Amino acid sequence: MIKTALITGITGQDGYYLSLLLLEKGYRVVGLLPPQRQSNIAKLGSLANQVEVYAVDLTDSAALEVAVEQTQPQEIYNLAAPSFVPDSWNDPLGTLDLITGTATRLLAAVRKAGLATRFYQASSSEMFGDVDRSPQDEQTPFRPMNPYAAAKLHAHWTMVHHRQRYGLFACSGILYNHESPRRPPQFVTRKVCLAAAAIKLGLSDTIEMGNLDAKRDWGYAGDYVEAMWRMLQADIPEDYAIGTGELHSVRELVTAAFECVGLDWTRRVMVEPKLFRADEHFQLVANPAKAKNNLKWEPQVSFEALIEKMVLKDLERLQNGTITPAALSTPK
Ligand code: NAP
Repeated sequence: MIKTALITGITGQDGYYLSLLLLEKGYRVVGLLPPQRQSNIAKLGSLANQVEVYAVDLTDSAALEVAVEQTQPQEIYNLAAPSFVPDSWNDPLGTLDLITGTATRLLAAVRKAGLATRFYQASSSEMFGDVDRSPQDEQTPFRPMNPYAAAKLHAHWTMVHHRQRYGLFACSGILYNHESPRRPPQFVTRKVCLAAAAIKLGLSDTIEMGNLDAKRDWGYAGDYVEAMWRMLQADIPEDYAIGTGELHSVRELVTAAFECVGLDWTRRVMVEPKLFRADEHFQLVANPAKAKNNLKWEPQVSFEALIEKMVLKDLERLQNGTITPAALSTPK
C-alpha cells in the first residue's frame, strides 16, 4: 500500500529534505499550503512536480478536517512555523496563532476523522530556554525565553494531551539547530557560509559578526528529517531530543567556512558588539541517547562536512547567478 504523508511547512528547509526522503521511500507526499503561499512550492525545485499541493488555510479548522478526510494520511508532519526566533518578538500573537493553532486544529482533525494517522510535531530545543543543566534530554524542564519557544511549548503540550487523553499516535521531535544549503541567510551558519563564498569571489570584503564565543549544537537537516520519520515508524509514540551532542562556537564556524575557501578569517570578520544577543548565558546541547537507543538514529554528517556543503553550494549559486550578493544584506 502506498502511504500518504501530509506536510505543513513543506516549502521550508525541513519540508524539502523530508519530501525527498518520503518520495524516495515511495510515499505520496501532500503539502498543505495556504492559498497565498502556493507559489512558494517552486522553492522545492525539481521536487515540486513530485508532490501534491492541497490548498488550505491553516487557520480554518473545518477546512483542515476536510483536508484530512479527503487525503486519508497515514502520517502528518506539522512543520509550518515562522522559524526565525528573533522575529517572534515583533509578532508574538501571530507566532502563537500559527504554531499552536495549527497543531491544535490538525490534531482535532485527526481525532475527528477517526483515522490511525501518526502525527509529528516540530518542537524545538528553544523550549528548554534558560536551562540549568547541559546537556538536555527528554526529562529536562522547559523554561522558554521567547514567544517562539512559548508557542512551541504550547503546541508540544497540546500534542501530549492528545496522545494521553485520546490515544493518538503523536510524537514531538525536540530538535536542536539543524542547517543545510537551504537555510535562509538570516541564520548565522548560512550568513557565514554565504559571506565566505562571496568574499572568495571578490563580491564582498568583510562580514560583521556578534559574539564569536557563542556556542550551538548544529546538525545537518537531512539527518534530522530521518529522525522525524523514524519516530513515526516506532512501536510506541514518544518524544525525542534530537541533536548532535556536540557544541561548536561561532569562531569554529567562521574558521571552518573560511578554511573551505582558503582564506584567513581574522582579516575578514569584524566583531560588532551591537550584534551580541542578550541571552547567551545558557548552552543548549542535546543528549540524543534515547534516539540512539530506541530509533537507532545518529547524525551522519559532521560539523565540518556540513559547513563545507553549505559554502560549496553558495559558491556555486553566486557563480551561476542563482543568488546575488544582495542576499548578504538580509536582516541579521
Ligand atoms: P523554515 O525553513 O523557516 O520553514 C518554515 C515553513 O513554514 C515554510 O514552509 C514556511 O512557508 C512556513 N510558514 C511560515 N510562516 C507561515 C505562515 N504564516 N503560514 C503558513 N506557513 C508558514 O523552517 P525549517 O528550518 O524547515 O523548520 C521546520 C520546523 O522545525 C519549524 O516548525 C521550525 O520552527 C522547527 N524547528 C527548526 C529547527 C531548525 O534548526 N531548523 C530547530 C527546531 C525546530 P513559506 O515557504 O511560504 O515561507
